[in-house]
Amino acid sequence: MHSNLWIEERYKDFYGMRYKVENVLYSKKTEFQTVDVVETKGHGKMLLNDGLVMVTERDEIAYHDMIAHVPLFVHPNPKNVLVIGGGDGGTAREVLRHSSVEKCTMVEIDGAVCEACMEFIPQTAEVLKGHPKLDLIIGDGVKFVQEFQATNEKFDVIIIDSTDPIGPAAPLFGPEFYTNVNKCLADNGIVVSQGESPWFEAEIQKSMLGVLNDIFKNIFIYNFSNLTYPGGLWSFTFATKGDIHPINDFRKEAVAASGLEFSYYNEGLHQAAFYLPTFMKKNLEGL
Ligand code: SAM
Repeated sequence: MHSNLWIEERYKDFYGMRYKVENVLYSKKTEFQTVDVVETKGHGKMLLNDGLVMVTERDEIAYHDMIAHVPLFVHPNPKNVLVIGGGDGGTAREVLRHSSVEKCTMVEIDGAVCEACMEFIPQTAEVLKGHPKLDLIIGDGVKFVQEFQATNEKFDVIIIDSTDPIGPAAPLFGPEFYTNVNKCLADNGIVVSQGESPWFEAEIQKSMLGVLNDIFKNIFIYNFSNLTYPGGLWSFTFATKGDIHPINDFRKEAVAASGLEFSYYNEGLHQAAFYLPTFMKKNLEGL
């Protein structure tokens, strides 16, 4: 027990968020990053990669609802889904709740993230222990899409649930990767990606949308509220291969008809998420 222990996530050189830790459950330095799972006093169990908060039991549902259900309720019939990253399992868990989904392939580069979460954060990672529709691959998502685009199989929805653009995740924000992602998508395909902080990472957002704009037909960015990410407001990008619109083509009636219950996602929030604060609109002008 480490009853007086606090951890701090440092963001850049001017901002930090502190959490009271009751217990350190897992700590490992892997080939890719450090992976820690701690039991916090206020947020339940928390996964940190390289000291950055990835998920907490308290608020993970906001991130996972919005990364999964937004594209899955826009695509007309999502059957084949790819998740890149997402080693905590939360995104795969939400994808697999959709009855139309026949297969979810998940490619996470660091097996230790999955192992740590399966042992200590079953709330997100239970699904990784075995699900008949889940194909869990431990490998590099960049290499995966490079090889997959040469096959005849296509994905309806691709979700990039990655860490920030450093280390092995850096290429996940670049043009070569998204060119391959586009080739892996079926005609109606949608790709949604972790899109960083509107408050602190406007340049990354602009660069991501610029890359997507050169490759995809329609591009959007949408926001959600995240308790444990710096600044609280966070984004996902949404890009389509065909002429699909996240609000006009939103299958609203399918939300209630699915019989699924959500703690964060709902019909109104789906649409509202695409209405951006003025400072974001200004930053993204011209895209
Ligand atoms: N919700 C999180 C966030 O934004 O903080 C992301 C969570 S998930 C744990 C991110 C995962 O992406 C990490 O486990 C990391 O190992 C994985 N990842 C990073 N680069 C990758 C790559 N090239 N291929 C596959 N997975 C990758």
